[in-house]
Amino acid sequence: MHWADAEEKDLPNEPLIATGVAPSGPIHLGGLKELLTGEAISRSSNGKLILIVDSIDPLRKLYPFLDEGFEKYIGMPLSEIPCPCGEEDSYSEHFLKPFLRSLDRLGVEVNVKFAHEMYDEGEYEEATRTVLESKDVVKDIIEGKTGRDLPEDWFPYNPLCSECGKIDGTKAIGFEDPYVEYVCECGHEGRAHIGKKEGKLPWRCDWAARWWILGIECEPFGKDHAASGGSWDTGKEIIKKVFESEPPHPVVYEWIHLKGEGPMSSSKGVAVTVEDMIKMVGPEAVRFLIMKNKPNTHIEFDTGLGILDLMDEYDKYEEIYFEEKSGDKARTYELSQVEGPPDEKPQRIPYRHLVNLVQIYDDYEQIWEVAKNTGQIEEDNKEDYERFEERAANVEFWLENFAPDMVKFSLKEELPEIGLDEEERSFLSKYLENLQDCRWKSEELHRLVHQCAEEVEVGKGKAFRSFYKILLGEKKGPRLGRFLSQLDKDFVMERIRDAL
Ligand SMILES: [Zn+2]
Repeated sequence: MHWADAEEKDLPNEPLIATGVAPSGPIHLGGLKELLTGEAISRSSNGKLILIVDSIDPLRKLYPFLDEGFEKYIGMPLSEIPCPCGEEDSYSEHFLKPFLRSLDRLGVEVNVKFAHEMYDEGEYEEATRTVLESKDVVKDIIEGKTGRDLPEDWFPYNPLCSECGKIDGTKAIGFEDPYVEYVCECGHEGRAHIGKKEGKLPWRCDWAARWWILGIECEPFGKDHAASGGSWDTGKEIIKKVFESEPPHPVVYEWIHLKGEGPMSSSKGVAVTVEDMIKMVGPEAVRFLIMKNKPNTHIEFDTGLGILDLMDEYDKYEEIYFEEKSGDKARTYELSQVEGPPDEKPQRIPYRHLVNLVQIYDDYEQIWEVAKNTGQIEEDNKEDYERFEERAANVEFWLENFAPDMVKFSLKEELPEIGLDEEERSFLSKYLENLQDCRWKSEELHRLVHQCAEEVEVGKGKAFRSFYKILLGEKKGPRLGRFLSQLDKDFVMERIRDAL
């Protein structure tokens, strides 16, 4: 059974599923995992998905992607800081908007709620009052679960200073409903209304409060929250003892690591944004990456050659879906679709092959012709052409931004000025002789290299190299059999004749 369907068994009908995001920087693939995990479960269970944006959280430091002018905003809520590019209303919108556009392309239907608006509109008021009135119970829970001592005069509330605008430098000193009195590092003394955007609950209380306020029944969250003594441990006690309610069904997920670099993190510059990922492989394959792995599996994501394997695997699952229509792999494919699976099995040109083709040909129609001539595309139709066009654009984006140099080449329109020695000449002329009767298929073209090299007693390496020299002006290049098969036969024969 697919993991999303297995989770569904533990849920009520049409559950309300929460996810969260911190818009403190570009939102990467790691952040998307939470959304797509929740969305898969909501598709399985006919649930509703909510995204809560932690927009009232403070800016914690000057991240590498910010200019020094942002130093002064550290400690202020993200919703109250200006947009880094000036186009959006706030800092949090600046980073959230591209993510929401990506979610739209991924077919994720989600109800977005901003924490700063929830506070401002009084949605948190009753919960905040309840927490403040039970502060000793809350304190016991946190101390008991974390083994950490909180100060005697601790208040579960972080006021927003009305003078300096910071939320991380204040200290609550008293509660007189509906006001929390505070002092701030800046010297200001004031009071914050708990039904307004004048402060917030500390994270561990905030999380439990939103479960209760919204009636959350399921929530995926990263493994850091699930650690012993972590916010899940305290949150479920707080909702039971303070709100006399039940915690949501938890789904703990593992981080996505960037190959060789550790967990994705925007603040450390170790991340691929969701936008880039969609441009690289298309929305279905982005979904596929998350759907094919159980949430608690460690994903080591490789933006280099790993992309080719990912895309091969996607095509394989597509085939399985159309052959079997059932089983985990078919289900994975189904959940990877933005708008439900196509009616007929798409005819695909493998991503791996397109990596060569887009570097050989100037326009997509030529590539389409080659694919028809080589039998990769059996029947011309508009839908498949559009799928091909989209994939070819993905390949071009990948080549430009992420692909390793070893897959890049440039086919020379004229014979490059590279002299051939006697051995290379004798090999190429033998090859030309045999080419007339050889089928224009990658395996046969490849085998013919070996055969001719043996016949004229030229080393294999040298034989392959002679082709790269006359076609690319290089000593190395893409896998030769496939590469030749993607070129026009007359062009190749003409080039060999020129070289000889
Ligand atoms: Zn202040």
